[in-house]
Amino acid sequence: MPEIARTGSCLCGGVQYRVAGEPRRVGLCHCKDCRKTSGSAFHAYAVWPLQAFEASGITSTYGARSFCPTCGSRVPFVGEEEVEVTIGSLDVAPTEGLVPDYELWIGRRESWLQALPEAYQFEHDRVAVDSAAGNEIDPEPRQESA
Ligand SMILES: [Zn+2]
Ligand SMILES: [Zn+2]
Repeated sequence: MPEIARTGSCLCGGVQYRVAGEPRRVGLCHCKDCRKTSGSAFHAYAVWPLQAFEASGITSTYGARSFCPTCGSRVPFVGEEEVEVTIGSLDVAPTEGLVPDYELWIGRRESWLQALPEAYQFEHDRVAVDSAAGNEIDPEPRQESA
């Protein structure tokens, strides 16, 4: 069976990318930084291992977020081991099979949004969870500050 691949781009098309296989995780973040940089009420993203990702075009980066310098669209942020893809930059909408596993900074979630029933709810950044006991263990902070 061929491995699934998804393509995406910025609005003007100057940045194009492709991710192969399924993401490691899919999240929603309601933190202030994600609100500010997206201009929206929350940020929806999926994370792939770096080797699953290829891209073309020129990008600019501010902190842990990248964008197209021409049209301003958010484009994948390339980290040391993983790439964070904004779900809205994928070409096919709605996306097939990308459902958030978790939500971050739920204290900043708008009152008119419901918690996703299947998604783990984090007060702040993501921490590893002992799923059997439901305890949060081994903190693994992301880069949001607020
Ligand atoms: Zn663009
Ligand atoms: Zn965030």
